[in-house]
This record gives sequence, C-alpha cells and structure tokens, in this order.
Amino acid sequence: KNFAEANLRPLVMDNIKKSGYTTPTPIQKHSIPIVMNNRDLMACAQTGSGKTAAFLLPIIHRLLADNLDLIVENHVEPQAVIVSPTRELCMQIFNEARKFARESILKVCILYGGTSVMHQKSRIMNGCHILVATPGRLNDFVGKGLVNFASTKYMVLDEADRMLDMGFLPCVEQMMNHETMIPTGERTTLMFSATFPEEIQRLAGKFLHDYIFVAV
Ligand code: AMP
Repeated sequence: KNFAEANLRPLVMDNIKKSGYTTPTPIQKHSIPIVMNNRDLMACAQTGSGKTAAFLLPIIHRLLADNLDLIVENHVEPQAVIVSPTRELCMQIFNEARKFARESILKVCILYGGTSVMHQKSRIMNGCHILVATPGRLNDFVGKGLVNFASTKYMVLDEADRMLDMGFLPCVEQMMNHETMIPTGERTTLMFSATFPEEIQRLAGKFLHDYIFVAV
C-alpha cells in the first residue's frame, strides 16, 4: 500500500514525496478516502499516529479541486479551519500544512493566544484558506468580526478530548454554533480524539453528520 492509491492531486503527491513519506500510516489509509468521499469522520487516534497528515492531505487535495474565491473585505473566510488545544500542536499542524500546500495558491495561517493580536491580524488579512487555531484566540477573532465561517467547508476538531480537559468546551460550542457556520451535512467535519468517552460521543453526535467511526 502506498500513497499513489489515494488518487491525490499531483501537487499533493509531490509534496508527500518531498517530505519523505512513502507509506501511509493506518489512520491515513482509513481517513484519506473518507474525506475524499465527502464524509464526516470521528477518529480515535493518538499523537504520533500520523493523524495530522490524515486530515491535511485530503483537505488540501479537495481545496485545490474547489474553485477558490478569496475576495473578502475587512475579514477572512477560511475554507478550512483546524482547531487544536495548544499553541505547540497548532504550530505542528501549521508547519505540516505549509509543507503539503507548498507550490500551491493556498495560504495557511495560525492563531494562538498569549501573543499580540495585531501581528496575527495583519497576517490573516493577506488571505487565508487554511486556518489553524486554538479555540480561545479563534473566538476572539470571530468576536471582533475578523474571521467568520461562511466559506468553511472543512472543520477539524483535533485532540477533542484534550480540549474538553482544558476547559475549552464552551469555546468550542460557541464556535460550532456561530451564526455563520455552515450546517452539518453541508460541510465536512472531522473530529480526532485519543479517547472516546460519553462527552466526546455526544459532541460527535452534535457536530458531525452521518459520520464514519475509525479507531486505530
Ligand atoms: P502526528 O501523529 O500527525 O503528530 O505525526 C507524527 C509524526 O509522524 C510526525 O513527525 C509526522 O511527520 C510523521 N509522519 C506522519 N505520517 C507519516 C508517514 N506516512 N510516513 C512517515 N512519517 C509520517
């Protein structure tokens, strides 16, 4: 089994080759076709399983296949939003996303707390297709009217159990219930979690539409 079977766009395949990946990990084998087929996914996978590429590769493929329109005034409407609990995790996702989107028109941006809003604001105002963010800082930007979800066809909740442990549930609920959020069933939503307790099952039921469950 290799990446060629996934039918990813040539640009994505080139970037996979450049990154030195030859064989998809189990979570990648399962999730890439699910996302390529436009289905929602609840995946139980640990850090180290290759889950980041598991959601980034098919999302980048799909964004390149879509007709992207980036003309927005005074705010950004990212096509893909990836929410992860910590700055470190966001940095890893951001770096992977830039690696796999290299040589494409896709712009990747990052938002996290504990640092100046001004700098992050000027970055996203240059355009942002893929936004990687911590929940608190993302809500700050949404509250200021700088970001909305009107074009967000791909939503990823990464390390969902950890977000709950860190007290981000109200933040996540606020974001997922935002007035601009595209309804479930009309967007693609992916949830990743190391564990699958009742609370995560409840959120999967709420935020996902007719989802496929994968555990690796
Ligand atoms: P993650 O679980 O996404 O944090 O990935 C864990 C580590 O595995 C990261 O350093 C990735 O760069 C690496 N990795 C992910 N997928 C592959 C793959 N298919 N082949 C080799 N390394 C990979």
